[in-house]
Amino acid sequence: MKNIFGMTLETMQEEFAALPLEKYRAKQVTEWLYKKYAKHFSDMTNLPKTLRAELSMKYRIDVPSLRTRLDATDGRTSKFLLAFSDGAAVEAVLMRQPYGNSICISTQVGCSMGCSFCASTLHGLARDLTPGEMLAEVLFIEELLEKEDEKIDTMVLMGSGEPLMNYANVVHFLHLLHEEYVMNMSYRNITLSTSGIVPAMNRLASEGMPITLSISLHAPREELRSKLMPINRKYPLADVVAAGKSYAEKTGRRITYEYILIRDVNDSEREAKDLAELLKGQLASVNLIPINPVKERGFERPSAESTASFCRILTHHHITATVRREMGSDIQAACGQLRNRHISENQRGPDQFILKHCNRL
Ligand code: SF4
Repeated sequence: MKNIFGMTLETMQEEFAALPLEKYRAKQVTEWLYKKYAKHFSDMTNLPKTLRAELSMKYRIDVPSLRTRLDATDGRTSKFLLAFSDGAAVEAVLMRQPYGNSICISTQVGCSMGCSFCASTLHGLARDLTPGEMLAEVLFIEELLEKEDEKIDTMVLMGSGEPLMNYANVVHFLHLLHEEYVMNMSYRNITLSTSGIVPAMNRLASEGMPITLSISLHAPREELRSKLMPINRKYPLADVVAAGKSYAEKTGRRITYEYILIRDVNDSEREAKDLAELLKGQLASVNLIPINPVKERGFERPSAESTASFCRILTHHHITATVRREMGSDIQAACGQLRNRHISENQRGPDQFILKHCNRL
């Protein structure tokens, strides 16, 4: 049975034409799926009963179920582990910021990039998420917020997965989100975070979608970055920064460089100066993130003083830099940590799917 959730209006119209059904029925169904969060055709009360029955024989509505919810003591951050029908589980996070509600979603189940500080990659990549599955993460949170008369204001693709390794699905999902009949979300409110897949960064710059690009840098020199991020051996730092510069020139959007600060690894004065030199003259800013320690990796968080000093050096060299406010560390907000706990706690059940795939990879 075909999954209808995540279909565009046009695709649904084509599908329905073959049944045959009038064009406006597709509009009604998208309204139920994307605006009213219907989980069953039986909920679609303005469709005739016979039509609801017919549709439920032909299509399924594949939306995830909530496996775990954690609310941080800061009262602003909530993390959700969402499981899809095949048992694959991903994390999505809601952050209630002073400037609005921001969400962070996953684009893959696990990740193959192997960044040494990251929990999401510990079990490898299980599979890509489809456009409908990414949309389902968003609408799951939007439905919750709507009950509080709130809405999602901004979104970052910064959960588990490398979005640009799932390029076609991610771009399709962003187009879908932008549609009036879905969320009408402005591209300017979307940030995509990449570890630096250079050809895909260049391709993204030509998509005509003015989303913000956030580049995970984490080191200002090739050899150090290769140690932290194996992808650097394929797409070296110099090429990544050049692609960032070109993206900013083409789209007019300021690049955000993410820099996770790890004690005695990349947080010295030398690294701060090298970073300032590397980004000199770019339409860019640096987001410093003191590491959320990952137990399995053994990295430590730098002191508040050394974080502040790193930031000061950048500012002194005319690089706009901020230190990310800590949100939700008591609920393991760093990507992948909740899912990993879930995998290790569940020796039986649907998540064995993930373990099986990871063993194979
Ligand atoms: S930091 Fe991002 S790209 Fe790197 S392993 Fe984690 S999820 Fe993948």
